[in-house]
Amino acid sequence: MATINDNYLKLKAGYLFPEIARRVNTFAQSNPDAPIIKLGIGDVTEPLPEASRTAMLKAVEEMGDRATFKGYGPEQGYLWLREKIATHDFQARGCEIEPDEIFISDGSKCDTGNILDIFGNNNTIAVTDPVYPVYVDTNVMAGNTGSINNAGEFEGLVYLPITEENNFTAEIPSQKVDLIYLCFPNNPTGATASKDYLKNWVDYANNHGSIILFDAAYEAFITDPNLPHSIYEIEGARNCAIEFRSFSKKAGFTGTRCALTVVPKSLTAKAADGSDVELWKLWNRRQSTKFNGVSYIVQRGAEAVYSEAGQAQVKALISFYLENAKIIREKLTEAGLVVYGGVNAPYIWLKTPNELSSWDFFDKLLQMANIVGTPGSGFGAAGEGYFRISAFNSRENVNEAMKRIIEKFKV
Ligand SMILES: *Cc1c(COP(=O)(O)O)cnc(C)c1O
Repeated sequence: MATINDNYLKLKAGYLFPEIARRVNTFAQSNPDAPIIKLGIGDVTEPLPEASRTAMLKAVEEMGDRATFKGYGPEQGYLWLREKIATHDFQARGCEIEPDEIFISDGSKCDTGNILDIFGNNNTIAVTDPVYPVYVDTNVMAGNTGSINNAGEFEGLVYLPITEENNFTAEIPSQKVDLIYLCFPNNPTGATASKDYLKNWVDYANNHGSIILFDAAYEAFITDPNLPHSIYEIEGARNCAIEFRSFSKKAGFTGTRCALTVVPKSLTAKAADGSDVELWKLWNRRQSTKFNGVSYIVQRGAEAVYSEAGQAQVKALISFYLENAKIIREKLTEAGLVVYGGVNAPYIWLKTPNELSSWDFFDKLLQMANIVGTPGSGFGAAGEGYFRISAFNSRENVNEAMKRIIEKFKV
């Protein structure tokens, strides 16, 4: 008889977004004319940059000609793309990252999950609370946790609360942890990390032989020149950090799919016999065995992001969302709400008024203003009492949503 991976049974059955959909459907059925605006899900809304589309169209034509047709590409990605990324995203900011330390993939969601393939099952793993749920669920699937408790926390994981009190930046744990997931600019809170703050983590990791899994999916939203875009801007990070980046939020690639993971060659972890093993070798082996690369066409589209026209178009795209975020911040503040994030990030994290629970505020916002957001408690126990509003929408919808919030909530 075939058996299953029982760890899947420990997962909380896809609670957050299905529950949002259920409540929205129920409301829409009894209020069929309600003009609902969704400021919930973290997906982009604006079309692909023209430079990327032009490059992809050209690549499609190349695929139609025997002389320029491409079959399987390198599992790690084409060198011309990895070189552009190394130059523009890392070396230009003083990070010593070489093209062959960059692995192109079809998404950071999969990479942040797949990376667990190369780590042992006896690591102590730390996540922030609230957190991007993928980090938690992939550890559950890999058998790295026990079962879930009443607070919604999995036994065996170390949860680092991020709240108003610590400015939404997790405190360095007093105990030793082996793997730490950090995401800056943060989803869901929109918080950012200074160089000094990240230096504390890098020092901690180097002192304890820990590895930081740094998710920089929202790096392109940083406009403050003092904030680091990459963990490798911090001295010592080449010895303790893996970085994930994606074209999804940066260049509207959520439906096109292209991302990258950086594994420095200087990064090692312990084998069972106590020897140090290069993680680069393991990830290279893992990708070569389980992955066949991103389509040539898409990689050409990603490469075009680094052209002069592409850079300008991406900048305009990011500015558009950041202007939405600014409008949301200002209007929510005018309505008397306490808001965080939304400056170097596309997410606004608000404190629910009158100590309402996250879900009670969700219902109130839906009923009174026909607006859908995301309850903070869906991202972890410490997210209770908070609520996420996303800047990924049209200007028209953002303006209309904020007008309604001022009308209904301003005291
Ligand atoms: C959107 C997002 C990503 C990007 O995922 P892709 O699979 O590359 O689309 C990664 N991490 C976080 C925290 C995100 O919100």
